[in-house]
Amino acid sequence: MSTELLLKDYLRRLRLPAVARHYKALARTAAENNCSYEEYLCALLEQEVLAREESARQNRVRRAHFPYLKTLEDFDFTALPGLNKQKVLTLSRGEYVRLKENVILMGNPGTGKTHLAIALGLCACRQGYRVRFYTASGLVSELLLAQKEHRILALERQWLKLDLVVVDELGYVPYSPEGAQLFFRFVASRYERGSTIVTTNLEFADWVQVFGDERLTAALLDRLTHRCHILLMNGESYRFRESLKRRQQDEDQHHQPQLHRIPP
Ligand code: ADP
Ligand code: MG
Repeated sequence: MSTELLLKDYLRRLRLPAVARHYKALARTAAENNCSYEEYLCALLEQEVLAREESARQNRVRRAHFPYLKTLEDFDFTALPGLNKQKVLTLSRGEYVRLKENVILMGNPGTGKTHLAIALGLCACRQGYRVRFYTASGLVSELLLAQKEHRILALERQWLKLDLVVVDELGYVPYSPEGAQLFFRFVASRYERGSTIVTTNLEFADWVQVFGDERLTAALLDRLTHRCHILLMNGESYRFRESLKRRQQDEDQHHQPQLHRIPP
């Protein structure tokens, strides 16, 4: 067998597709630049390492089940002057995930809480953390189903493997007592073992309306808010502002032709 065919076969069996893709072009460049064999090998293996890191990153993003992708780059901080931008940028570096700290994004609807939670989740995926996105009601439904099917322990083992869980939209629907208990179990078991980001439209004083029980709510808040970064995101709804802007643009366009029709 020719060297080329043998090489292709070895690289396939060793599962080194990036080496297979790049070895010829890199060999030419290495020859042109008088590189040593070691330098060539190093450049070649670098391609394999980079390709694997990228595919692992993509897998982590896929497994996070984000409803859609939003990034910090798309976030307009000027739209929410009350938000501490520096704090958001610090969080994006992921130290809080390493320290197993929590984040609560609290504010009225349309101010970018879900956007920021997804963006922070994406940053964590890029940093190599295992992330999972849930809506609060989706998580509670999943907990209730697992309980019913006697696999809550298996589910707990899974959520404890996650470095970061995003729980979006806490507070829109109240939970049944069983749902509230299970959510408490979720938060209590992750306490100091993994990070959780919660987005909510409710102030802490109103959380009892969601969980129904004052003692349970206090115990839950105690665990969630110990070692926690709280970002207040109260402001004008971005959605509302954008639709106002669009309406204004539509109106302006409608008015233009009329201007031309005015006789001189
Ligand atoms: P919330 O979760 O607070 O209700 P969302 O994150 O769902 O709000 O934001 C509503 C829409 O507005 C989304 O499409 C989001 O990307 C966009 N949005 C909100 N705030 C901003 C912002 N400051 N910069 C850019 N887009 C924003
Ligand atoms: Mg939201």
